Amino acid sequence: MSEPIVRFVGIGKTYDGVTRVVERLDLDIERGEFLTLLGPSGSGKTTTLMMLAGFETPTEGEILLEGKPLSKLPPYRRSIGMVFQNYALFPHMTVAQNIGFPLSVRGIGAAEIAQRVERALDMVQLPGLGARKPAQLSGGQQQRIAVARALVFEPKLVLMDEPLGALDKQLREQMQLEVRRLHRRLGVTMIYVTHDQHEALTMSDRIAVFHRGRIQQLDRPERIYEQPSNAFVARFIGENNRLLGRLEGVDGNRCTIRLAGDALVEGSLAAPLPAGAQVMVSLRPERVQIGGAAPTIGANGHCRLAGRLREVIYLGDHVRARVALPGNDDFTVKRPIDDAHRLPAIGQPVELAWAPEHCRAFAREDADIPT
Ligand code: ADP
Ligand code: MG
Repeated sequence: MSEPIVRFVGIGKTYDGVTRVVERLDLDIERGEFLTLLGPSGSGKTTTLMMLAGFETPTEGEILLEGKPLSKLPPYRRSIGMVFQNYALFPHMTVAQNIGFPLSVRGIGAAEIAQRVERALDMVQLPGLGARKPAQLSGGQQQRIAVARALVFEPKLVLMDEPLGALDKQLREQMQLEVRRLHRRLGVTMIYVTHDQHEALTMSDRIAVFHRGRIQQLDRPERIYEQPSNAFVARFIGENNRLLGRLEGVDGNRCTIRLAGDALVEGSLAAPLPAGAQVMVSLRPERVQIGGAAPTIGANGHCRLAGRLREVIYLGDHVRARVALPGNDDFTVKRPIDDAHRLPAIGQPVELAWAPEHCRAFAREDADIPT
């Protein structure tokens, strides 16, 4: 594998000398990848990005850009494009002057700037808007201009911090696909910050899930979703039913779990734990089958659990059933519309079934204890 374009080596950051907002961060970013830093507000994403951009200084550790310590590279040699949530276009300049700005500060001639600005406007699908002022554009158009300005000087690295956060849902989803296409086409390395899990899953080659200044998991989107490595990631990404239990037996990463209400089910362990450990079991709503009391669901090897149907909600493309189980009053199952006929009347017993690999057991955290 080629040398990572960026390496964070033992990076720590404190603003007040007391609290570490980024802790012992080791992260290699591969050339050409789309990496997303995903996490709740305050988890240290922007701080991490700002240290890479050179706007904040790490308290400890070193960031390497193409093998060279960033602290020794002056900003104009860093070749990093940036896009922020609030666009940060210069209001007094025209669109063309805004896009051309990174080129003029690099001493490129007027004729070439004009050409490259035209190409950049085409690239973000806003040809012919060069003479306007930012205030004459919609929010979505302004953000496209900000993207064009970040890409126009062909940087090796583009950093984006919640760039679509101010746009409405439809425009945001359209822009997500556009930015992803631009990434594919240009082959540039992109590091993208968001607190929106759907955005992260849609756009990324890899996702680094942040919580309390630490990376909880760094993985491809499907693995982050299907195989969360701890209880925080399972809670933060996607929907998730939680059941408390105790590990009864462990065999490699397979385990048996004694749930509240005494049912014994099989599951898989995200990380090694000893028998006897208190665990939180996580089950995605779409991985659970549901049926009336007769065994009409689940194949051999599936785990089964009996409950009572509380509510069925019709959502057009799927149905959601809410089921009361021992230890979880509000267990949610998500099924295709065609499965609705398997459901008995409200208030009747139901059976749930799932494959053991979709039942993941984690070490219990304080946040898992019901209040
Ligand atoms: P995120 O982008 O994930 O929301 P930030 O990196 O902005 O997180 O913030 C991480 C923590 O650092 C937060 O507790 C925030 O209040 C604090 N913080 C961020 N910037 C500063 C600053 N310039 N001075 C002091 N504290 C800051
Ligand atoms: Mg932020």
